[in-house]
Amino acid sequence: MNIHEYQAKALLRQYGAPVSDGRVVMRAEEAKTAAGEMDGPLWVVKAQIHAGGRGKGKFKEADAGEKGGVRLTKSVEEAAEEAKRMLGRTLVTHQTGPAGKQVNRIYIEDGSGIEREMYLALLVDRQTSRISFVCSTEGGMDIEEVAAHTPEKILSFSVDPATGYQSFHGRRVAFSLGLTGKQVKECVSLMGLLYKAFTEKDMEMLEINPLIVTDEGSLKVLDAKVGFDGNAVYRHADIAALRDETEEDPKELAASKYDLNYIALDGQIGCMVNGAGLAMATMDIIKLYGSEPANFLDVGGSATREKVTEAFKIITSDPNVKGILVNIFGGIMRCDIIAEGVVAAVKEVGLQVPLVVRLEGTNVEKGKEIINASGLNVIAADNLSDAAEKIVKAVKG
Ligand code: GDP
Ligand code: MN
Repeated sequence: MNIHEYQAKALLRQYGAPVSDGRVVMRAEEAKTAAGEMDGPLWVVKAQIHAGGRGKGKFKEADAGEKGGVRLTKSVEEAAEEAKRMLGRTLVTHQTGPAGKQVNRIYIEDGSGIEREMYLALLVDRQTSRISFVCSTEGGMDIEEVAAHTPEKILSFSVDPATGYQSFHGRRVAFSLGLTGKQVKECVSLMGLLYKAFTEKDMEMLEINPLIVTDEGSLKVLDAKVGFDGNAVYRHADIAALRDETEEDPKELAASKYDLNYIALDGQIGCMVNGAGLAMATMDIIKLYGSEPANFLDVGGSATREKVTEAFKIITSDPNVKGILVNIFGGIMRCDIIAEGVVAAVKEVGLQVPLVVRLEGTNVEKGKEIINASGLNVIAADNLSDAAEKIVKAVKG
């Protein structure tokens, strides 16, 4: 689960991190009052979306020369004006995809004088099963670019959970970032509180790009991107309350309401499968036959007819879906439940694309009967390979 920059900064402020004063606004009328609560002389107006690269992003229908989603302004009036101009519009960055994201919230922040921009991240390193620090002197830029062209400028190391964070970890970051004097002390304390926040709140990722040295020579968190482990959010009511559902894929959101394991992808073939392993194999074999899956979906073993109906509706709601493959190996999940769910969903929302169904296992005869009796235009398949071949052929024509 991801949160907005302003929420991440408020959270890190609670842990004692140096962040600027700021106000979030949802309506244009609030912008002037919000900006007026800060002294200036610089006000930074920042679009809040769950994607990075806002500064270099572009608004749809932008005027020539119009800036992206991060704007430096010199007065309360100008700040309010820029906030108004951004609200409600769609911002496209290299992380949003071409569709972009609508800006519904603006953060107006007390501007900082910058001497130097650096990069810092904490993340769960799956290779070592530890939390890693990643830092670089090349801040404010795309870290993927830095990693590709100048990997020597990135330092990364993991923290042994047996000892937890130690001040030498912080000094290691400080020296690699070229910090001196009181900045080293600031860095040791900042890294410690970030590590504490990360572990206490079950974060998955915490990226500060840039971490800056201000013109007064102190460290400051200028941007913050935080993601939490979705499986642990139930332990943190305060974090769950920060969820902004308008930022999430509506299909994934609907799936989560029905407790379905669904992940939206970019391909053409919608998949309804039971069991995560079979779902992965189904995606693989679709690719093998030359197409791409539109989603991962494991309806699980205990799905009801209603759940199956919802799952099918979510798949058909995706405009990219040009064909659907239902692949069920009935064990605990019975084939007749799947068949009933599919038929009920098609009755409700119709079926505009080819549908291949492969049923096997528990109650397979009953399942096939339900589908045959429904009069649905279904292409039957005998096995996984046959099913994949048939749906790819039906879609490609
Ligand atoms: P992102 O583009 O989504 O990563 O948004 P950031 O919050 O990282 O802002 C992009 C860039 O805007 C930063 O790298 C800075 O160069 C600049 N910027 C952001 N806040 C300030 C500020 O308070 N003062 C100044 N001078 N520049 C800022
Ligand atoms: Mn940034």
